Amino acid sequence: MGVGRVPILTYHSQNICGNDHARNDHVALQQDVRALYRAGHYVVPLDWVTDWLEGKRDDAGIDQAVVLTFDDGCDFDVRDLVYPGHGLQRSFQGILLDFLAEPRATHPSMHATAFVIASREARRIIDAGSLFGRGWISDDWWQGADAGGLIAVENHGWDHNHPDLAGERRGAFHTVDTYEECLQQVVQAAGEIEVISGRRPRYFAYPFGQSSAYMREQFFPQYAEIHGCRAALGTDPGPVTRSSDRWNLPRFVCGRDWHSTQELLDLIRNRK
Ligand SMILES: [Zn+2]
Repeated sequence: MGVGRVPILTYHSQNICGNDHARNDHVALQQDVRALYRAGHYVVPLDWVTDWLEGKRDDAGIDQAVVLTFDDGCDFDVRDLVYPGHGLQRSFQGILLDFLAEPRATHPSMHATAFVIASREARRIIDAGSLFGRGWISDDWWQGADAGGLIAVENHGWDHNHPDLAGERRGAFHTVDTYEECLQQVVQAAGEIEVISGRRPRYFAYPFGQSSAYMREQFFPQYAEIHGCRAALGTDPGPVTRSSDRWNLPRFVCGRDWHSTQELLDLIRNRK
């Protein structure tokens, strides 16, 4: 992508409807990571990008870098599980560890950020309604993964405002536009995640990639001491640049913005 442009890539470990790149985010991640390194790119922690945005890291220190993010915190992030109808799936964490274990592998900055849903009750309902009701949106891996240093556990909201949940105005997140709603979705969620993971989140990923102007322009900029976040991430496609909105960093989404390693390389080299 070149100097001054850092792509943040988004994968969903529950996106499995086949076993090729276009239909399985595990196959995609496994192929993409290798293709990226072969092409001279390398993966860095999200912290490197915010450091760079804050002027604590220069352009050369971020040149050719790529960031990995995993949304929704399904157990497929870290556990090898048999996906009904599609066989055993290597976890995202396992895919990264396999890559790091390859001969001559020297990738000290390898890292990914997993955005998880805080409310245990919401996860139970979403699991029953949209996954398989087998407890595959659990939280017993958060502490170990975060402490391990390879995958940071960060905030994807209190309940994702998921359509499986009862109540008004579900199924979207731009509807979250009051101080009280932001307190629940961001601050209460961060507190819950901290209790379980052992570390307070520093990043927020908007569910559905959606955010209200209130959240971007007032809540996040004005209440830094309350939410404690360094940045918030949306899913507007594009690389992060120094002029990106800190409270709506763009991300590319696997399956929406690319469907093969070649499409990914073209995307981040800006040939599309
Ligand atoms: Zn999500």
